[in-house]
Amino acid sequence: MTTHTRTFAVIPAAGIGARMSAALPKQYLPFAGAPLLVRTLSRLLRVGWIERCYVVLAPDDRYWDTLVTPHLAQLPPAFAVAERLRVVRLGGTTRAHSVRAGLRVAHAEGFGDDDWALVHDAARPCLTPETIEHLHGSVGNSNVGGLIAIPATDTVKVATPHTSPNSFPVVERTVPRERIWLAQTPQLFRLAVLRQALDRFPDATDEASAVERLGLQPILVKGHWSNLKVTLPGDLELAQAIWSLQEDSLSDVG
Ligand code: C5P
Repeated sequence: MTTHTRTFAVIPAAGIGARMSAALPKQYLPFAGAPLLVRTLSRLLRVGWIERCYVVLAPDDRYWDTLVTPHLAQLPPAFAVAERLRVVRLGGTTRAHSVRAGLRVAHAEGFGDDDWALVHDAARPCLTPETIEHLHGSVGNSNVGGLIAIPATDTVKVATPHTSPNSFPVVERTVPRERIWLAQTPQLFRLAVLRQALDRFPDATDEASAVERLGLQPILVKGHWSNLKVTLPGDLELAQAIWSLQEDSLSDVG
């Protein structure tokens, strides 16, 4: 990593989390005594070289002010929340729209084309500082960027198109798993590359796939399954158990 480049984070948090079937969007569900989003942000704010964290909310978000703001005052002073956390109420109908809004604001606030944008899902609270450092160090001086992903360990099946909701899907074929990686976040890209990719491919489901469609090759950096995305109802309890174990071994900050 060259020393003159800077890094900021974008945390898209404008989704409604329909698959959780919960009363609140999943990023606001209670998680170890605070909204899930607070726990995710805390993991990013621990890392001092992340200069700013842009949290992207839906324009009509009704929860940040009441649920999250009271917890921010309780974060360690070393997190420098007032200087480093920005709320961007410009989220869109897709994740890519929300991320683009965060990138636009970062650019308007002075981040340059070669600076690094680290995008992380609001719903992945078990991200460790080690994983962030590992990605940052591995991407090094790449002109493109890379992402945290995990090599598939299970055998991978492709199902036939599902025609009836009342029947089981059936296997069409088995895919050799040696080259299969499952993408997670964080994903770290040069600001200009990522802006161009998401402007051209706003239907991309993650940042890397938009960058790939530009003809570029993001670096795959091995992560860990514990960095799970809270998606389905049972995920919340599992993630809380992992998070609590991790907290015991994280060093105190501030
Ligand atoms: O729905 P999914 O789990 O794939 O969402 C991943 C992340 O993208 C979540 O943090 C969610 O809040 C965010 N998102 C967003 N804007 C959308 C859809 C999802 O910021 N329109």
